[in-house]
Amino acid sequence: LALAQGDSRIIICVDLDYFYAQCEEVRKPEISGKPVVVCVFSGRTEDSGAVSTSNYLARKLGVKSGIPIVSAKRILKDIPEAVFLPMDRDYYDTVSERIMGILRSHSERFEQVSIDEAYLDISENSGGSYERAQEIAREVKSEILQTEKLTCSVGVAPNKVLSKMAADSKKPDGLTVLEPRDVYNFLQLLPVEKLPGIGPKIKKSLESLGIRTIGDLGNADEGRLALELGKNLGPYLVMLARGIDNEPVREREREQYSRIITLKQNAKSFDFSDALGPIVLDLSKQLISEKIMCRSIGIIAITYALRTRTRSKTLETPTNSDKLILTVASDLFRSYFETAEELDKDVRRVGIRLSELEKVTEEKTSPSLTDFLA
Ligand SMILES: [Mg+2]
Repeated sequence: LALAQGDSRIIICVDLDYFYAQCEEVRKPEISGKPVVVCVFSGRTEDSGAVSTSNYLARKLGVKSGIPIVSAKRILKDIPEAVFLPMDRDYYDTVSERIMGILRSHSERFEQVSIDEAYLDISENSGGSYERAQEIAREVKSEILQTEKLTCSVGVAPNKVLSKMAADSKKPDGLTVLEPRDVYNFLQLLPVEKLPGIGPKIKKSLESLGIRTIGDLGNADEGRLALELGKNLGPYLVMLARGIDNEPVREREREQYSRIITLKQNAKSFDFSDALGPIVLDLSKQLISEKIMCRSIGIIAITYALRTRTRSKTLETPTNSDKLILTVASDLFRSYFETAEELDKDVRRVGIRLSELEKVTEEKTSPSLTDFLA
């Protein structure tokens, strides 16, 4: 078999473990050691909705993502300490953004795949050495653990698909290095569904051709597979099964930057400007370091009744200035408290959202506060 020959890249896949549930364990240390189930309540009846993520204790007992909350409660009915929590996507987003910032600092070639998963191409900073690559992977893990108290599973391999499979092979808190010489043995006996992209339907088609392992798939006749699965997918899967994947790690365009914080006490008016300062500064620093400007500045208010309210303003000229962002956000919050419905004037969490992003070009400079006020 031709195995990833000529592919001298080294890619890291970082996958945060049971992310939403782990975020909740960090925020509420008293629940760790108990089964934790993060739920999306649909609101129709008290328990209607589905499980989003559960921690490993709950998973061991059979509580998997996607099952109805009612079923999860039935499974855990004899475990009074089991914890059911509503999903708090804003909070997980904030934690995720900080972690992605850590990852980005390790390589310019960075690709975020989802809220809890990213790839880094470390071919250059590892100098092509898997020993050094493993050290970098360890550094990444320990930085995330130290700053956010979260574990992740990491795979190091010659391409994206293999790094993802390596990360998946040991969870939670895993670190798996797959050097080119180990790829063949790693893939050979794995069932085909371990290959990213192969779901139950494709698995069934492959089974009808007598293909059960990734090894079988790598040896399969491409023409026959093209007939069965289509002329693109068939040969593509054969290549993956041979350990070949040339997809580059590339940054996906981001649409917004946001931060949300919980206030020390609920606010009934705009009396929390001190609390906004640090998050605005943090956002502005991030924009500057990533050479981005925003044209739209928004505020988020999450009320005591858990209603999310937003307001935003579009600027004439894009900015990354913390002073300007703070001024605009403060105006928006002031007018929010003047105009919002009574029910929405009891605010528990607040945030800033910067959007309509533009790359900084040479001639664009940040307008100063005085420009804006003029
Ligand atoms: Mg994950």
